[in-house]
Amino acid sequence: MQKICPSCREINPAEAAFCRSCATPLGAVAPQAPQWGQPQQAAPQWGQQQPGFGNQPFGGPMQAPMSAPVQESNRPVIALVLVIAGLLCCGFLTSIPGAILGWMEINAIKEGRAPQTGMTMSQIAFYGGIVVSILNLIGSVIAVLVLLSGNM
Ligand SMILES: [Zn+2]
Repeated sequence: MQKICPSCREINPAEAAFCRSCATPLGAVAPQAPQWGQPQQAAPQWGQQQPGFGNQPFGGPMQAPMSAPVQESNRPVIALVLVIAGLLCCGFLTSIPGAILGWMEINAIKEGRAPQTGMTMSQIAFYGGIVVSILNLIGSVIAVLVLLSGNM
């Protein structure tokens, strides 16, 4: 094995202790030392990152069920309010979002992300929202037809 000088790239014989061109010490071990040091330093870094990545996905779902019932217990009420608002004044502009919200809450309850107590209210909001939306759309069409026929 020949030794290549790290300073001037002069090719020296393997037994040379110093570069014959520029007298730089040819340890030949010296360039290898940092190479050995880097993998040894990298290994603990990988070890530290892997538990870190493992903890985050586990930490997320663990926290979600804790806070989810508190947040999602309001959704059936909001859905029902939207549907009732649609029935009273706002029409399908609020009853359709109410039905969607009720449907989302029903799915959330089926998947265990929301308390069972909201199921009845969610179903009422979902089916009620659909009925109110359809009735309102039909009513809107009839109203438009009446207006058009009145003008003619
Ligand atoms: Zn040299």
